[in-house]
Amino acid sequence: MIAMDTPLVKVVGPRTAKAMADQLALRTVRDLLRHYPRRYARRGEMARLDGLEVGDRVTVLAQVRSVSTRPMRQRRGNLTEVTVGDGAGSMRLVFFNHRHAHLAVGEWGLFAGTVGKWQGALQFTHPDCHVITGDDDDWARALVPIYPASKDVSSWVIQKSVKLLLADPHALEGALDDPVPEAVRRRHGLVTLATALLHKHRPESTAQVEQADERLKWDEALVLQVTLAARRRAAALEPGIARPRRGGGLLDAVDERLPFSLTEGQQEVGAELAAELAREQPMNRLLQGEVGSGKTVVALRAMAQVVDAGGQAALLAPTEVLAAQHARSLAAILGPLGRAGELDGDPAGTRVTLLTGSQKAAVRRSARAAVADGSAGIVVGTHALLQEGVEFADLGLVVVDEQHRFGVEQRDALRAKGARPPHVLVMTATPIPRTVAMTVYGDLETSTLRQLPAGRGGVSSSVVPVGEKPAWLDRAWARVREEVAAGRQAYVVCPRIGEEEGAGGRDDDGPDDADGAPPEEKGAGDRRPPLAVLDVAEGLRAGPLSALRVEVLHGRLTPEDKEARMRAFAAGEVDVLVATTVVEVGVDVPNATVMVVMDADRFGVSQLHQLRGRVARGAHAGLCLLVSEVSSSSATGQRLAAVAATTDGFQLARLDLETRREGDVLGAAQSGRRSGVRLLSLLDDEALIAEARAEATALVEHGGGLADHPELAAEVAALALDDRADYLEKA
Ligand code: ADP
Ligand code: MG
Repeated sequence: MIAMDTPLVKVVGPRTAKAMADQLALRTVRDLLRHYPRRYARRGEMARLDGLEVGDRVTVLAQVRSVSTRPMRQRRGNLTEVTVGDGAGSMRLVFFNHRHAHLAVGEWGLFAGTVGKWQGALQFTHPDCHVITGDDDDWARALVPIYPASKDVSSWVIQKSVKLLLADPHALEGALDDPVPEAVRRRHGLVTLATALLHKHRPESTAQVEQADERLKWDEALVLQVTLAARRRAAALEPGIARPRRGGGLLDAVDERLPFSLTEGQQEVGAELAAELAREQPMNRLLQGEVGSGKTVVALRAMAQVVDAGGQAALLAPTEVLAAQHARSLAAILGPLGRAGELDGDPAGTRVTLLTGSQKAAVRRSARAAVADGSAGIVVGTHALLQEGVEFADLGLVVVDEQHRFGVEQRDALRAKGARPPHVLVMTATPIPRTVAMTVYGDLETSTLRQLPAGRGGVSSSVVPVGEKPAWLDRAWARVREEVAAGRQAYVVCPRIGEEEGAGGRDDDGPDDADGAPPEEKGAGDRRPPLAVLDVAEGLRAGPLSALRVEVLHGRLTPEDKEARMRAFAAGEVDVLVATTVVEVGVDVPNATVMVVMDADRFGVSQLHQLRGRVARGAHAGLCLLVSEVSSSSATGQRLAAVAATTDGFQLARLDLETRREGDVLGAAQSGRRSGVRLLSLLDDEALIAEARAEATALVEHGGGLADHPELAAEVAALALDDRADYLEKA
């Protein structure tokens, strides 16, 4: 009988168990069985030693010809050189300080690695080695699993250990707890867990591997979706306060004052929100809409409804610049209605209060007081606002704007904010592929604004490949001068602030780069440092833009400075704003029509899309120039070209997803919790994820909920490594 939670020490030797735990984080039988082969070596496809090329990742079958170990000259320790041959050719295997001196002349073995070359001869450095003995039935298999391995735990050791666990398939079938309920398996034609594991680890055909994959992906999708369904259920069981629409109040006044009529999409989403706010069950909704689709006004109307119903609404922005801007534009739309209590205020209105971490103590004290006594109906701030123990008289709605790092846990913290959980609306302009919406944001319902308000000029984009066409950069600055001459303004965005800053010099006030540059490009040490705001601004002032008013904006300025410079730019007193990604989200200056992104290759796809959105806000056509040194035929160059070629956010979101790994996407939003996703692909498994979501919802909400499915509950609990799993009990 194997329990999934059995520690591996009970299965393999203590040394192997320790190495597995330390190097591969494999501690229990579950961990080991879920440690799947990365790929399979095929016996029929073993590479011949005379046909290898440098860079090939291959497994060869060969015989050991010689073994020699000698001390290294430059470093401490030993170098072991092994020559192997297969009759067609020969190659050298090299090991530094390795125990593989156990290879003996005459033995046959499988050697897997990446072919390199040294002093004219082909070699493997630290290949996976597996000596074949006479009674080796692993070797007889058509597909030899190759596992993710580590220094002291080779693929073969893993293979042998797994084999121990799977030794008796019949016993296994009865002994393994299957987290996917039988009815679900039947409905979706899935094999049992025992069969799937057997086929994944010891397949006899690729068909078996495929069948196993399908089933094992279900485990991942179902566990993930049950976790999210349990959250939704727990949230639903905790009643909030209904905030139904009341006529004759702030909302009606807002609607009267709006200088435009709402788009159809804004009306539809508005009705959806109004209905949900009117219910006791707290709303938990994600509103996604293209940059410039007009989410703010949708949010404002929801906030007005809550204020009319006697509650308070908080609007959280990711940066102080943005918070200040929101406070300003809300105040502008509300006019006297946003200044209740002031001389020229309308007593029927409310107060819009800005509350940020860096305000002067006195300002903050009075803002806090207004929040605590309820006279501030609308509170705008960064999310530091929630962490600082600010007391609300009656928090009814929290709107989170443009948030990249507002994960599940922050939302949980929010719900705990009032005596009763508030309604929550999360807004994002980064379009979210459906699979991501169902996973990362799976505890939220989704609404989408697809339409842009009429009369937008649109934005066209081009790549400026300065490596290949240096003269194009001059042309870019000429375009900036032309736009300014026509009365417009420009942004120049750089990846870095400049003039020493620690930690890579990212702008702390900028949004999180959870969806920033693709991982392979982070910290690439051999490239020149990214261009910096301060240097670029200086160069422009001294050079191509010397006749223009150039100002800089970045996260190291004091909040007052940032605010003052943003205001000056919005007022048209500055022609060109050289900035970090602080301008990425939400900054709204309709007169700005050009954006030049320096070192554009250092930004992620959705970041570029966001940035570009800053110059598509008015009636004038916008222009976005992506300046980069990378070759236009490289993968990165092509990514930039793709961004330039389309403004379809959903297509870009997909492109973005392709450049990231599942774990990054899921991990970032689930902050620290192991996502448990190994096989599931957010790109390819949309149908499966949707089916799993439906099954999970049914499992959690019907009958005894998870209590009826202890095996599944155990699997979910194993995944929820931190101790915030209390929602599981509630479900
Ligand atoms: P985003 O969805 O990117 O946050 P905003 O809410 O900032 O977009 O809106 C962008 C601009 O469009 C703002 O200047 C806003 O006043 C304007 N706007 C919003 N809705 C409409 C509408 N229905 N018609 C015309 N302009 C609108
Ligand atoms: Mg916005």
